[in-house]
Amino acid sequence: MIEGRCLCGAVRIRAEGLAGTMSACFCANCQRWGGGIQMGLDARGATRVTGPVKIYRATPFSERAWCDTCGSSLWLKDDDGPHEFCPGLFDNAGGAELTHVVYADRKPAGFDFAGVPDRISKADYESNNPFVPEGDMP
Ligand SMILES: [Zn+2]
Ligand SMILES: [Zn+2]
Repeated sequence: MIEGRCLCGAVRIRAEGLAGTMSACFCANCQRWGGGIQMGLDARGATRVTGPVKIYRATPFSERAWCDTCGSSLWLKDDDGPHEFCPGLFDNAGGAELTHVVYADRKPAGFDFAGVPDRISKADYESNNPFVPEGDMP
């Protein structure tokens, strides 16, 4: 069992397993819902979700879910498919690797992570900005 949670901890996820790979999507819906990019990590086997989950019927064939307390995006799910969880719900993105980009031709021109020259480490960021120690999170 792999466990994940939202930002506030009210929603808890237990998955029998997770895919070893994840996707990023640049379709218009995912860009709006995910704040620019949406990443997905398929569940494998049984899943159990508890907490204040809200569901939005995004299309006639799929739903998107979020935590009603903190607003964390939780999943995208086609009616006949597995939960496609947001990787950030799991420590280290469940160990998955980004292997494919969907709607790649719709990526905003300014999104090029590989070419970003200014990369700031956790230590450097936290030495100059307010932050919450990870151990203090719920
Ligand atoms: Zn929450
Ligand atoms: Zn999409």
